[in-house]
Amino acid sequence: MIEDKNQERTSISSLGEFGLIDHLTKQFNDKNASTLKGIGDDAAVLDFKNKLVVLTTDLLVEGVHFDLSYMPLKHLGYKAVMVNLSDVYAMNANATQITVSIAVSNRFSLESLEALYAGIHQAAEVYGVDVVGGDTTSSQTGLMISVTALGEVDLESVVKRSGAQSNDLLVVSGDLGGAYLGLQVLEREKQVFKVNPNNQPDLEAYTYIIERQLKPEARKDIIKLLKDLDVLPTSMIDISDGLSSEIIHLCKQSEVGCDLYETKIPLDPQVISTSEEFNMDSTTVALNGGEDYELLMTISQEDFPKIKANPNLTVIGYMTDPGNGMNLVTRAEAKIPLTAQGWNPLSSDLEP
Ligand code: ADP
Ligand code: MG
Repeated sequence: MIEDKNQERTSISSLGEFGLIDHLTKQFNDKNASTLKGIGDDAAVLDFKNKLVVLTTDLLVEGVHFDLSYMPLKHLGYKAVMVNLSDVYAMNANATQITVSIAVSNRFSLESLEALYAGIHQAAEVYGVDVVGGDTTSSQTGLMISVTALGEVDLESVVKRSGAQSNDLLVVSGDLGGAYLGLQVLEREKQVFKVNPNNQPDLEAYTYIIERQLKPEARKDIIKLLKDLDVLPTSMIDISDGLSSEIIHLCKQSEVGCDLYETKIPLDPQVISTSEEFNMDSTTVALNGGEDYELLMTISQEDFPKIKANPNLTVIGYMTDPGNGMNLVTRAEAKIPLTAQGWNPLSSDLEP
């Protein structure tokens, strides 16, 4: 298990609310021209000139969205930013600012919040976004973290879920299913650790999928790649809940059907071997696993030559008339309707 090696334990109450905010936020320096005033006033002041602004927010709750027994706080901070930036990129926008709000109990020391903010800071540096505000409050027990992200995009470049046309190609970035299987491995090791705390797990065979779970990356690079290739997707969504559920969103909002080819779904070798080990079907894992934060898009057939040689993009199917329905075409060439199992925090199926 990944343990918090930090032995120091300074109580957060010793700093007071304002001292804590100052301490956690002094590391942030604004980089974007659109940030006129960041942290320190009653509100941030932003100037997007003639750009459209995209805005998205996510709330992560301890025990529901993350488990601190295997999620190091630095990774949690990083991931909380990634899940939001992924939504900004899914609009084909450039992420520029975030705000971070936290509710913490006195169970958390100053050092643990420093670790959380080290992850937030790293994400902000790597992705070029400014942390321009937030809120800090207490909670009775667990930790909650809410990130809001802003981005900018030109009117003619914004890509919604609703633009897919019949015959468009269905394209996905990266590979799928890793984050879900990484979580299965971490859950298993947690149970082993409970029984025998001296057991040191060998996680060598799972490094990629564990990284996919603990340190996901939002696909800013894909937004740049599409621009460089001169491809404007007709629709786009990020994959947070599993491929199946996201395809259904695109189809419903675009009023089209689709055929997804099982044999085309990109899977890492670790996803295939770990699925076998857990007695799971790797296609089911990719369809329903979630948290991969890849981008799913549709592109016009005309643009196929521009993307076909690119290892980052895989054509996995095509859109059809709505009468065809939304189907998985299996290895055996049977067509079965796609269902949205997905990740639903309010149901107990497919619990992460
Ligand atoms: P107010 O009482 O006016 O809401 P605060 O004292 O809560 O102001 O916040 C002071 C400044 O610090 C504001 O710019 C706010 O956005 C920022 N801030 C507060 N908490 C956080 C946090 N956890 N992370 C980043 N910025 C924060
Ligand atoms: Mg406040």
